[in-house]
Amino acid sequence: MRQQALEYARTHQDEALNGLIELLRIPSISALPAHQPDIHRAAQWLVDRLTAIGLENARIIPTDGHPLVYADWLHAAGAPTLLVYGHYDVQPVDPLDEWHTPPFEPTIQGDKLYARGADDNKGQFFAHVAAVEAYLKSAGQLPVNLKFILEGEEEVGSPNLDKFIQHNQDLLRADALLISDTPMADPDTPVVVTGVRGLVYTEIFMQGPRRDLHSGAYGGAVHNPLNALVKVLAALHDEQGRVTVPGFYDDVQELTPAEREAINAGPLTEESVLAETGAPALWGEPGYTVAERLSVRPTLDIHGIKGGFIGEGGKTVIPAKASAKVSMRLVPHQDPHKIARQFADYVRRLSPPTVTVEVVTHAAADSAVVDIADPAVQAAGTACELAFGRRPLFQREGGTLPIVATFGKVLGAPVVMMGLGLPDDNIHAPNERFHLPNFYRGIEAAIHYYDIFSTVAPRR
Ligand SMILES: [Zn+2]
Repeated sequence: MRQQALEYARTHQDEALNGLIELLRIPSISALPAHQPDIHRAAQWLVDRLTAIGLENARIIPTDGHPLVYADWLHAAGAPTLLVYGHYDVQPVDPLDEWHTPPFEPTIQGDKLYARGADDNKGQFFAHVAAVEAYLKSAGQLPVNLKFILEGEEEVGSPNLDKFIQHNQDLLRADALLISDTPMADPDTPVVVTGVRGLVYTEIFMQGPRRDLHSGAYGGAVHNPLNALVKVLAALHDEQGRVTVPGFYDDVQELTPAEREAINAGPLTEESVLAETGAPALWGEPGYTVAERLSVRPTLDIHGIKGGFIGEGGKTVIPAKASAKVSMRLVPHQDPHKIARQFADYVRRLSPPTVTVEVVTHAAADSAVVDIADPAVQAAGTACELAFGRRPLFQREGGTLPIVATFGKVLGAPVVMMGLGLPDDNIHAPNERFHLPNFYRGIEAAIHYYDIFSTVAPRR
């Protein structure tokens, strides 16, 4: 069965690519209300596609926000069940003028497919759609029972996913969750991710005078909320790059020498990060290597500051309000809700009485670690080795995937993260792209994985 599927995949690469390109043309940006119709168009397109390749029960599931897409094939009697997760929403595209090709007109240049969502996450999960299609169109069956759950709100922090999983445990029940939404080390070195960081996403709002004022008439007497805000923001790190929120590091556990060794065995070095980012020099907590700072240490970043006048020319305004978006990446044992409270208390304490301040928490997600010894995780090692010709690295990842913690906690099954992206795919940035050889080898890795998983995974 596996051989037939592999042959089908190899002879139908163009069809898989064309399907992906169709999906990439739909600008399903979850953060922007104007794109709501596109979100629905993408969800409906997926339902149609999943039905066409032979999956059953394909449907749109509404939530309080953007809908989920579900489909399954449950005819592998006695075999374990695999749940495949992906997300069909994408990040906004600005700054648009930095794109070399239009973000929703997928363009192939050499080995790369350029489009918003090409890597994150349409290209990566579509490898699974193509792998399932290869089995169903060639052998007429899958070696596993398989369910797809595709989310439309991952890029806005998955506000409805936890509740959905809690309330739909029977629908989602599986012996493992498989996610392709993480990077490989390089085009020939796959990575099986063994942990993800948590996240707290906040916004600080400061209000000064009732309305905008003229700085010539009121400057020096009425405190400018932008001045107050940047002072607070600047105080969130110390000179060395450590986060100053009281209690921030209290629950962070120090790494064992073995853990440090494993983390530092990967390809990330100061030189590689400098070369990849073009930053003039690196920055961060002393006492930790760059690989550690990027994966197992917590961080704080300002993502945007709003207020005042940023048009051309000069306008001498004291704005009435100013705001900033700030997030923190968290590591195991840090409770995102506790950190959110500590952060809000600290910002309020730092703020002067000359402004009023409000701190809103937009999203909070737990970190998670994966048991490397689990057969479902080990199966990914074998599948990657067969498809990419090299044993994958087993590594922690700096990003956040809220479903990993929730799924493990609620459904008690292992989470397997077998990513197909590359570190320089420009996800969340202009000129996002996907390395097409990874797409095709990813399809084969998925075909191998379903079959290996069916023989090794214990049924729960
Ligand atoms: Zn993303």
